[in-house]
Formats: sequence, structure tokens, C-alpha cells
Amino acid sequence: MRKILIVGAGQSGLQLALGLQAQGYEVTLMSNRTADEIRYGRVMSTQCMFHTALQHERDLGLNFWEPQAPRIEGLGVSVAGPDGTRAVDWVGRLDGYAQSVDQRVKMAGWMDTFAQRGGQLVIHGAAVSDLDYFSRTYDLVLVAAGKGELVSMFERDAARSPFTEPQRALAVAYVHGLGPRPEHPEFDAVRCNLVPGVGELFVMPTLTTGGRADILFWEGLPGGPLDVFRGVKDPAEHLALTLELMERFTPWEYARATKVELTDAGGTLAGRYAPTVRKPVGRLPGGGLVLGVGDVVVANDPVTGQGSNSAAKCAARYLESIVEHGDRPFDEAWMQATFDRYWETARHVTKWTNAMLGVPPEHVLRLIGAGQELPAVAHRFANGFNDPADFENFLYEPEKTAAFLESAAPA
Ligand SMILES: Cc1cc2nc3c(=O)[nH]c(=O)nc-3n(C[C@H](O)[C@H](O)[C@H](O)COP(=O)(O)OP(=O)(O)OC[C@H]3O[C@@H](n4cnc5c(N)ncnc54)[C@H](O)[C@@H]3O)c2cc1C
Repeated sequence: MRKILIVGAGQSGLQLALGLQAQGYEVTLMSNRTADEIRYGRVMSTQCMFHTALQHERDLGLNFWEPQAPRIEGLGVSVAGPDGTRAVDWVGRLDGYAQSVDQRVKMAGWMDTFAQRGGQLVIHGAAVSDLDYFSRTYDLVLVAAGKGELVSMFERDAARSPFTEPQRALAVAYVHGLGPRPEHPEFDAVRCNLVPGVGELFVMPTLTTGGRADILFWEGLPGGPLDVFRGVKDPAEHLALTLELMERFTPWEYARATKVELTDAGGTLAGRYAPTVRKPVGRLPGGGLVLGVGDVVVANDPVTGQGSNSAAKCAARYLESIVEHGDRPFDEAWMQATFDRYWETARHVTKWTNAMLGVPPEHVLRLIGAGQELPAVAHRFANGFNDPADFENFLYEPEKTAAFLESAAPA
């Protein structure tokens, strides 16, 4: 059977490894951390995944935590007005529920499963020189190593990457003890709180190592009042800062957060990165070729919560392409075509995410505001998180937004 090496045990690498393994491929998975190092380490993401991406996991029988993870049935948007008021506040119901399973739980669990099913799990931080050797001994080498150093093998695609600098400073805290949302407490929702000119606060339930919890996730404009987490090493200090900023900018979220405590010592994360699209084929010094997967090739800002969704969609597309290709060589043309097939979906995510990082134009403000009066607008916008291609129909051009708002208004 064909031999495939996957470097990186995240959403994209593990989903693809387990999918190929189930089809009888001889898969080696290389990870720079053991399952226990991941399980007992630091949180990595907020990883809210919507219906289509979750369905890819179900299709492979990998939805191990679906029964325990909270069902996120709605997506809310609040916009802060002056003086701590909420200028806009609505929640749209999702047609299919979303879920967030702490990557520490999921990736560690999937790694164990891969090994139990007879997969070759190698704990080693791969360097370019290793890949040079492996590209001669494997039929295909896939690099799914996230935003780490191996991305240097893949050329930045300047035409598809408008930013050279990080657009947000990120700060995540996993907590127990958050009170329910006062509106519609009967179902779980992710709430996106937009603070114009300052940043965004995302609040969502998750399944973490110690059971159900909630995530408080600030995205701050660099240099602004939320950009204060750099150098904060003490998790308690990180949480205190998170809450202080909530009290100042989103008092309605703070009101239910007064009794929270961190889930565990690894429950905080801070950082930043520049959103980047890369050319999918990496060339090794010895002439071998490797194909990039997931964040390696398309890393968007998490402001739209799409990276894990995209990683799952990328792994699903690549799995199809590999299987369809049969015994033919995995050459450069195949690698490019495989990525192009994924880019058909990913391009919509990149366009939308980059748009949400900028100052929203008038027609987008009108659209977001209209969600409050028009349930059809809230519903359509919320479900765009599952299928960002739909934003083409009503978000980017003022005429299309106006036509949509007219059609959404009651007769
Ligand atoms: C703060 C934050 C919040 C986010 N929130 C969301 C969200 O709500 N929804 C969503 O969909 N996405 C979200 N994302 C994005 C999402 O987490 C990523 O896009 C997704 O995890 C990418 O998956 P991946 O498989 O490409 O890479 P990763 O998950 O980064 O996995 C890469 C793996 O490769 C390993 N590795 C790295 N270098 C090497 C090496 N040299 N050798 C071997 N192994 C290596 C790493 O340790 C890691 O385990 C968020 C991201 C951040 C930072």
C-alpha cells in the first residue's frame, strides 16, 4: 500500500492521518509533542467548529466527544455603544449546531486512536533536512505543522495575503463559573461582542479536559487598549486583565463573569500572527516536494472562528484527492490541483475574514444592525459562519446588501 508521511498532529494532520489509515494507507504521523504533553499542556485555540466541518469528522467516525460537548445552537452579535451600552444585540439560530472540543482533548485522543489502530506515531520535531530524506522514502509527504517554523518552506502568496503584520492581539482564558446569557438561556450560543475601534470579545462554551467550561477570548487591535497581554506569564494575572477589560468594554458580559475561575494552569493563551496564504508546494534542498495542509497554507485571523473549520475541510478535500489518484505519482501538478480544489472553499473564508478585520463600511453596519429587527438577517448572518461562501450574496457589495435587506423585511 502507498506510504504517506504527515508532519503535525493538529486538526488537519490527524483528521487526514486517521482518514487515510481507515482506507488502508500506510501512514506515519510525526508530532513534536506526545499525546500527554498535548493533553496536560496549554490551550491552543477556541476551536469552535460549525456543522459542515463537524460532519467531516462524523463521516470518518471521529466525533468521539459529540455527546459530551455543549451544543452551540445560536450565534449572537453585540455591538458596544458609548457608555457601556449595547447598540446592537441579537442572536441567530444555527441550522446545525456548532461545537468546541478543546484541542488538548481532541488531538491527544485522536493521537491515541491512531496509534491503537496500528499507525506509526513518531515523536520528533521535523526539520527541513529530515523532510529531504523522507521525501525519497515516502510516496507523499504532507506538512500539517500549523504556523511553526516549517512554513518557511512555503512561499508567501503575496497576491492572496494583504497583511504583513498581525491584525489582532489574541488573549484566551478558559473558565468555570460563567453565568448563563440573560437572553435565551435555554440554548447555548457563541457571542461575538464587537467594540468599535478596540476589538472583539468572543464568549463560547467548550468541552475541556475537566468537562464543560466557557472561553473568554479577546481580539485586540494592535497598540490599542486590549493589547496588554504580552509578557503576562501568570495565568491569574491574565484572567484578571481579561475581566478588567470586560468590565470596561463589555459590562453585559462582565456581569455574568464575576464568579469565574480558570479551568486549569494551562487555561490561558496569548499571541499574535499575520494572516498569510502560502503557495502549497514546498521544495526541499534535495529536490523533493512536499504539500502543505491546513494553517501551513491558509492561516486566517481567528476573528471569524474559521481555522479549525478550514483545517477540517482541507483534510477532507485532500483525502478525496489522494484516494481518487490511486497509484499514480503525487507530482507537482497533482499537489497544485489538490490545493486549488481546497482553495475554492478557503478563498471565501479568507475574503470574509480579512473584510471583518477592517473598519466595517456603512452597508455592513446597516446589515449587522438590521439583525436586531429582522430575524431572517440574524439567521442568514449566523449561518454564514458555517458556509462563508454565502457572504458573497449579501455582504460585500452595498447593492446586494440593500436587496437582501429588502427581501428580509416583512411584506
Ligand atoms: C486564539 C485562537 C482562537 C481560535 N479560534 C478558532 C475557532 O473558534 N474556530 C476555528 O475554526 N479556528 C480557530 N482558531 C484557528 C485554529 O485553531 C487553527 O486554524 C487550527 O488549529 C489549524 O489546524 P492545523 O492542523 O492546520 O494546525 P495546528 O492545529 O496548529 O497543528 C499543528 C501541529 O503540528 C505540530 N508541529 C509544529 N511544528 C512541528 C514540527 N516541526 N514537527 C512535528 N510537529 C510539528 C504542532 O505542535 C501542532 O500539534 C483559533 C486560533 C487561535 C490562535
